[in-house]
Amino acid sequence: MKKLSLLILTAAIVVFGAGDLLAATQYVTIGTGGVTGVYYPTGGAIAKMVNKKRKEYNLRATVESTGGSVFNVNAIDAGDLEFGVIQSDRQYQAYNGTADWEGKPVKKLRAVFSIHPESVTIVANASKGINTVADLKGKVVNIGNPGSGQRGNAEDLLAAAGIDVNNDLKAEGMKAAESASMLQDGRIDVFFYTVGHPNGSVKEAVAGATKVNFVSVPDDIVKKLTDKFPYYAAASIPVAEYAGVTNTADVPTFGVKATFCTSADVSDEVVYAITKEVFENFDEFKTLHPAFAHLTKESMLAGLSAPIHPGAMKYYKEVGLMK
Ligand code: GLU
Repeated sequence: MKKLSLLILTAAIVVFGAGDLLAATQYVTIGTGGVTGVYYPTGGAIAKMVNKKRKEYNLRATVESTGGSVFNVNAIDAGDLEFGVIQSDRQYQAYNGTADWEGKPVKKLRAVFSIHPESVTIVANASKGINTVADLKGKVVNIGNPGSGQRGNAEDLLAAAGIDVNNDLKAEGMKAAESASMLQDGRIDVFFYTVGHPNGSVKEAVAGATKVNFVSVPDDIVKKLTDKFPYYAAASIPVAEYAGVTNTADVPTFGVKATFCTSADVSDEVVYAITKEVFENFDEFKTLHPAFAHLTKESMLAGLSAPIHPGAMKYYKEVGLMK
């Protein structure tokens, strides 16, 4: 019997390698968004950085496509995801118990770092004459699936513009990944997507036979939103990224930041490893998506409203990024 177990152990060491047997590999999953957005490749970029060192850390990160920010917050809360990419406004609301989390704050939510800026992007069928927010009245508008970040941004914007989402337009709740083809097919007039630029979904929407324009958000409405909510800032959509769109100048709107979050239940070692690999390989990380072009290490520590996870904080203190 003893001989047999020794034989099995020897065989296992040959097959798996001694390191894997001494400490079992830990798997963590990063929740993202639709595959044609920026969250999905962002999760992939983060996973890539840490998986290069998987022998050293005994850690393997995998990426999951999800319904977006709200889904990711709730899955982290439930322990179904270890990490998620989450809009900064959603991070704030979830931790503080407002909006979708009214009366049920997600107290275990922890911030790791901020990533790229995201702007509230309103993409319209150009033949419908929708140039500014007021023109959305009476139209078929995809405000986004309930798990997405954009849905709340659409609701905030419409409320600020005095447009009743239930009576003044026909609101749809589809995922962003479906929006481009629905707009091209004439099944919707316009869709909302809170997203970094450039991204695959918006490129797909502007590349078809149906001409497409971005809808601008007037200054007074942007001001109303930034005065009322601490997490909104003025932003614009770079039209040069989207060949074929009918706008000729960058389009004013408002926006938030994509942030990388986790749970207080995830170990310091795991969060430290991921933070360290992203920051130590920062130049390479930035090349992994064009929406990362303007990132700085300092900008990645701004816009965090949940407490910073102690594993990330350990790294920031070590390198002097935080005191
Ligand atoms: N901001 C969107 C959301 O929270 C996702 C954008 C993306 O996938 O890049 O649902």
